[in-house]
Amino acid sequence: MLKEQVKTISEEIYEDIRAFRRTMHRHPELSFKEFETQKRIKTYLEKIGITNIKTCAETGLVALIEGKNPGAKTVALRADIDALPIQEENKTEYTSQNAGVMHACGHDVHTSSLLGAATILHRLRDSFEGTIKLVIQPGEEKLPGGASIMIKEGVLQNPDVDAMIGQHVMPLIDAGKVGFRKGLYMASADEIYITIHGKGGHGAHPHMNIDPIAISAQVITALQQIVSRTAKPAIPSVLSIGKIIGLGATNIIPDKVEMEGTFRTFNEEWRMEAHDKIVHVVKTITAAFGATCDVEVRKGYPFLYNNEEKTETAYQAAVDYLGAENVEDLEIWPAGEDFAYYSQEVPSCFYRLGIRNEAKGITSMLHTPTFDIDESALKIGCGLMAYTALRELGA
Ligand code: MN
Repeated sequence: MLKEQVKTISEEIYEDIRAFRRTMHRHPELSFKEFETQKRIKTYLEKIGITNIKTCAETGLVALIEGKNPGAKTVALRADIDALPIQEENKTEYTSQNAGVMHACGHDVHTSSLLGAATILHRLRDSFEGTIKLVIQPGEEKLPGGASIMIKEGVLQNPDVDAMIGQHVMPLIDAGKVGFRKGLYMASADEIYITIHGKGGHGAHPHMNIDPIAISAQVITALQQIVSRTAKPAIPSVLSIGKIIGLGATNIIPDKVEMEGTFRTFNEEWRMEAHDKIVHVVKTITAAFGATCDVEVRKGYPFLYNNEEKTETAYQAAVDYLGAENVEDLEIWPAGEDFAYYSQEVPSCFYRLGIRNEAKGITSMLHTPTFDIDESALKIGCGLMAYTALRELGA
């Protein structure tokens, strides 16, 4: 039985996959600079017998595993390979050796799991019809996002991708479990940059100045009303101003105030409309008080949509592989993720791999210096991904 074969191979290759993950964790590389990582992945693919490998997006790779009737259908499996500019604080035998750089978003886990899935699928290539496309992309953490470049370079064609599957570690889910959500899952994420130019002077004479601090308070309050009063309640939206700099003093009104923030939502039409509203609100409020402004909304990744049919197939594969008690339903998650680009182009499923283990003290969130995983999750990371791909191919 296919499921048992997948499970057996995942057990067999576990130590090898774990070793790959540890090496990758020890030697993290920043977005779009993953040259050594790319070499290491290519060497691994060649070692397991995969020969059809091409470079894509400079530091990414695309590889094919052909089954019995390769033209039947193509399922793409995606992993991201870049690390973050964070100094690791964990003390383990695989602690980052690269000062100030760390795999704090689990991309080492995604990559090693993909290599495990590739090993399994390559060994079982006589058991399925169709083609598996391995999409190994750089730069998930940095605009414009490696996924957008891979797509521009044709990663979804030759052969055309019928379904795309990605997984991401989730510190809120215990190792041994996975999570799914159909439909809207992750938000579009855009950056807001505002500078309000007033006229500085003595704090005792506000009438002789144009106070950018007082104006910025009005602007921040008004921006919140875009979300609370003009967004449709059915479309979740978040607007946060996370940085504000006004370098005056108790008795000094500064010349300018700078602000930065983020806008996240789940609908492309509303997203564009909201961008216009943000610019309009900032411009009119500053003008009303005699100041001028620079305001820019910089587009990030689009929202991530999980295709109902593909996600149902993946969900059923997980229930079959792990048991219903180990498959959770996810809530909407307003973080950004460049897998969203694929989900806008082809029917996709992006699911969560549990890695938490409270007993071992593994509870840190993503993008923190103490992030780590319960490595037993790698078995599921490999096995379930391979099994899901087989089910999507109808095996
Ligand atoms: Mn990530």
